[in-house]
Amino acid sequence: MILDGKVALVTGGSRGIGAATAVRLAEDGADVVVTYADSERLAAEVVERIKSRGRRALAVRADNADAAAVEAAVTATVAEFGRLDVLVNNAGVGFVAPLEETAQDDVDRVLAVNVRGVLVASKAAVAHLGEGGRVITIGSCVTDRVPGPGMVLYAVSKSAMVGLTKALARELSPRGVTVNLVHPGPIDTDLNPADGPYAADQASSTAVGRYGSAEEVAAAVSYLADPASAYVTAAILSVDGGHAA
Ligand code: NDP
Repeated sequence: MILDGKVALVTGGSRGIGAATAVRLAEDGADVVVTYADSERLAAEVVERIKSRGRRALAVRADNADAAAVEAAVTATVAEFGRLDVLVNNAGVGFVAPLEETAQDDVDRVLAVNVRGVLVASKAAVAHLGEGGRVITIGSCVTDRVPGPGMVLYAVSKSAMVGLTKALARELSPRGVTVNLVHPGPIDTDLNPADGPYAADQASSTAVGRYGSAEEVAAAVSYLADPASAYVTAAILSVDGGHAA
């Protein structure tokens, strides 16, 4: 299998896109560590799903807003499995409100989870990533096209991932590490359920006219983690059903 002998860390791996990605990377052959903020039981279920595929797995509670906890999750990954090859920066929170109604606490919380936590995890992981290493971040299609009002804070947080990806790719290419970004469109998860109040508008804003699945995003992460994608770096891979078209 393409990731045999490799170790992946997926932040926010207890539900949604992160859980699907963790299981997919295990199916590709990796041992996988997932972090979570609150969902201990769901994270344990993901661990069991990974183990049932013959891979080693660990769940670590690490709020992305807590830098020490995020660093400890990276340390625990290497302590448990001896290495780190693939970091998937997936943990993130949504936020919808006009800027005028956005409190300073909202700004601090969203930027702490969606931006600062990603920087902290990436910095901690970089120390361990060698030839063939991967940093794969889950951004958002709102960076390419904002579908309506109320998205300023979230779009700011996800747009920062473009800068992270391009700048870090320049730093890590000399040591054979690629850095890439996935832009999901509307994906059916707890964050954005396909039967939610704004779902019909979101589905119709895509070219294909439907929500995507977490597994469809996980397939893109799997491609970027594959050693065969070594020439793909600083790339943005949209998995958005044509939302930006
Ligand atoms: P979900 O809300 O379904 O799952 C979020 C996951 O992230 C959970 O495992 C959750 O853990 C974890 N998480 C949330 N907050 C934190 C935190 N502070 N620290 C650590 N982990 C945390 O979201 P999705 O799967 O939909 O989203 C995953 C990523 O994809 C996010 O970055 C999101 O912005 C992005 N995205 C999603 C889209 C969509 O339509 N669904 C579209 C575009 C981008 P716990 O269970 O413990 O809360």
